[in-house]
Amino acid sequence: MSANSLPNPAAVWHHLEVDKTLQLLESDANAGLSSQEVQQRLQRYGPNELQETGGRSPLAILIDQFKNIMLLMLIAVAVVSAILDIRGGEFPKDAIAISLIVILNGVLGYLQESRAEKALAALKKLSAPLVRVMRDGRLGEVAAKDLVPGDVMLLEAGVQLAADGRLIEESNLQVRESALTGEAHAVEKQAELHLPEDTPLGDRINLVFQGTEVVQGRAKAIVTGTGMQTELGRIAALLQSVESEPTPLQQRMSQLGNVLVTGSLVLVAIVVAGGVWRAGVGAFEDLLEVSLSMAVAVVPEGLPAVITVTLALGTQRMVRRQALIRKLPAVETLGSVTTICSDKTGTLTQNKMVVQAVYTNDRSFHVTGDGYAPTGEFQIDGRATSSEDQPALQALLVACALCNDSTLQQQEGQWAIIGDPTEGALLSLAGKAGVEKDQWEAQLPRTAEFPFSSERKRMSVICQVQPEVKSRTAQNGLLEPENYLMFTKGSPELTLERCDRIHVGDRIVAITEEQRAQILDQNNQMASNGLRVLGFAYKPLATLPPESSEDTSEQELVWLGLVGMLDAPRPEVRDAVARCREAGIRPIMITGDHQLTARAIAADLGIAQAGDRALIGQELERMSQQELEEQVDLVSIYARVSPEHKLRIVQALQKRGRFVAMTGDGVNDAPALKQADIGIAMGITGTDVSKEASDMVLLDDNFATIVAATEEGRVVYTNIRRFIKYILGSNIGEVLTIAAAPILGLGGVPLSPLQILWMNLVTDGLPALALAVEPPEPNVMRRPPFSPRESIFARGLGSYMVRIGIIFAIITIILMEWAYFHSQNVVTEQLVRERWKTMVFTTLCLAQMGHALAIRSNTRLTMELNPFSNPYLLGAVVVTTILQLLLVYVPPLQSFFGTYYISPMELAICFGFSALMFVWIEGEKLFVRFFRKRA
Ligand code: ATP
Repeated sequence: MSANSLPNPAAVWHHLEVDKTLQLLESDANAGLSSQEVQQRLQRYGPNELQETGGRSPLAILIDQFKNIMLLMLIAVAVVSAILDIRGGEFPKDAIAISLIVILNGVLGYLQESRAEKALAALKKLSAPLVRVMRDGRLGEVAAKDLVPGDVMLLEAGVQLAADGRLIEESNLQVRESALTGEAHAVEKQAELHLPEDTPLGDRINLVFQGTEVVQGRAKAIVTGTGMQTELGRIAALLQSVESEPTPLQQRMSQLGNVLVTGSLVLVAIVVAGGVWRAGVGAFEDLLEVSLSMAVAVVPEGLPAVITVTLALGTQRMVRRQALIRKLPAVETLGSVTTICSDKTGTLTQNKMVVQAVYTNDRSFHVTGDGYAPTGEFQIDGRATSSEDQPALQALLVACALCNDSTLQQQEGQWAIIGDPTEGALLSLAGKAGVEKDQWEAQLPRTAEFPFSSERKRMSVICQVQPEVKSRTAQNGLLEPENYLMFTKGSPELTLERCDRIHVGDRIVAITEEQRAQILDQNNQMASNGLRVLGFAYKPLATLPPESSEDTSEQELVWLGLVGMLDAPRPEVRDAVARCREAGIRPIMITGDHQLTARAIAADLGIAQAGDRALIGQELERMSQQELEEQVDLVSIYARVSPEHKLRIVQALQKRGRFVAMTGDGVNDAPALKQADIGIAMGITGTDVSKEASDMVLLDDNFATIVAATEEGRVVYTNIRRFIKYILGSNIGEVLTIAAAPILGLGGVPLSPLQILWMNLVTDGLPALALAVEPPEPNVMRRPPFSPRESIFARGLGSYMVRIGIIFAIITIILMEWAYFHSQNVVTEQLVRERWKTMVFTTLCLAQMGHALAIRSNTRLTMELNPFSNPYLLGAVVVTTILQLLLVYVPPLQSFFGTYYISPMELAICFGFSALMFVWIEGEKLFVRFFRKRA
């Protein structure tokens, strides 16, 4: 049968035997599909992707733009202004222009948001998981979208299923199917069953489904459905893995919008009521005009767009530095992190393990060799020795090869592993003595296992002894086997605890207390040198132990020995730790490894400082949460901890007011990642479940990347505050200037709503966007973090806005007063009386250019900065100035925007007054500097 006539995937896979399923799908349980077959099936079935039903529709995004209260107010202003104009017999130009700008703003917002949604979709693709499959008889990893029906997938704890499948074989497999069935408890799966045809979805325990999560165990499954032909596809319930939540800042800004709109409405009411009371109803229309302008002036129309762009640019910069943001709030809150809790293996260290020491049978061996290449020597006291003369060593190496889920492969001349590097190093070690996993597995095939978990810190495999190899096994120093042999490896202390005998020479004897002490002493010595140490044991069994009986079965073991491997620290981490400290961020190591190994590496990296404590999982277990809270600020190393301890540690730190970033990779790390203020998953070694729970994914699993992302977070936040200061300061200046005109008895409103919109959107907007990409100030990582809960007006931002707004207004009002009387006197054919308004308009715009240039740094003078370090700002200032001049001098624009020609001399005066703004801000910096020095 060709794949063309594959049965309908909706058919009855759970009702079929494994063999029949394999036959129907034309696949092989061991070799998988051939590459050629995969290509054909990919063409026939398409990529394994769900059609995106999540996210908002374009129409919904567009409608959302007009739900913004500030735009609603502008629409109201347009309506009132249109009524006034039409009643006065004038063409409603302002109203049309405002409407156009409202539409433009809506469309721009729409384009930006749909771009942001697309960018998020792209990020989602970047974080898409890889799937381990057998193809062409080899184990490999492929992108989830390349899976086809008939592929043989290998599943293990932490994997999120990328397709539907029929189990071929499994061991202790438990799957959480809440994504599909809503059932929170994990379901135990069984491969060998064949179920009645009408079994409901939740009871099809011989199948696995896309979108569900493997919580425990391992399995091999054949893909039965991909893409929309899966159960998840059928119900089209797409889980959006990258969420676009409003950030705290965006939320605060929309609150600010509400305050501003309400405030401006109150202002309008006061001005109109006060004016009518003083001047009678006749002045109502003039006053209404003033009020309309004030209402438009107070609203920072350009701000929401600038914030969105800044956050989007922030995520892009972070991705370039290998940090993938999954939840937008993380971009700005990263800068507030005070404590980074990091895993050791792979994040602080390279996760490239090389076995350097073996201890068995009272003997210490030094092992030579680099990387995963199975070449090297076993040395005693510097001299090479053959493992064949050492039955205990030989037995240990067999255990290394068999109690192992990894594969060692040669790829393009290089030795590489698929799977856990710890286990890869063990295969390479065994290979150095000629002990090959494949050969041994043929003779001692695995029939059952008790898988590894971070809680147990141990794993066992049970191998069936083939009759023909019984004698050979005995020769290799293993116990005269019964029908099965169980090999166990794990944390030395916890494995040794379960041993009552020991392999000495080629004999098995009861283990003495002295021997135990010696082994633990040896373990401590290896660990103090920074080695990651594993203990090995085994046991013959007459019968296969029942499933899930690990606690009773892993007892009365025969101790084999210790293996110590080096996992060198990442070279860049030492520097990153130092930068953390400088930035007021405390790094903490949380590891499942031995405390001496942890201490050695923490000391090397500078994580542990004088007076810092190390706490081990057992101690932590005994502590109440309150006791932990009392200790948590002193502890910089947590060793031999389990994932659930991580949750307690985060909670204790948070209780102490810390803002915590926490890394994790396993399934059971998910609760701690969710609890942390910034949950960080590992891009390479992380399970899908941990990524799903995280705010950020480290594409390179590297601690230094967390520090880099924190720096970017600080830059984003600083820049956002910078342009908020810039934009709102200008708005306050505009409102005060408009309100001053009638008070000073100058006829009419100096600025029309249209001109104000122009300023707020264009002449403020462009420089604000450029300020969003301002490079970091040199001290960005030399100051303590700011609280994420601080008000947007904190640290002088509010007072700056008001102060600068007032200065801005004073400068403009003086200019306005002078320009008004000047323009009444000098009137020619070209120079009209009304042109004072254009001078005010021009001064307000140009003063903002000076403000933009001066606000780049809070402390350094503009002339001390490299003018080209932010070329966008220079560009924005030049373009905006030219645009403003065009508005004043190009006749069609003049009549549209209601501007008048002003003489070059008058223009020069506008420039002069505008420059005062720049001079003032620079003067403030000098003033502060002077007093700081004196203090
Ligand atoms: P970190 O939490 O920093 O990543 P870790 O890798 O040591 O550290 P776990 O993976 O939870 O943390 O491992 C805990 C302990 O379990 C290890 O120190 C080791 O003793 C043991 N161990 C690790 N991997 C295996 C394995 N594949 N088989 C058996 N035991 C293992």
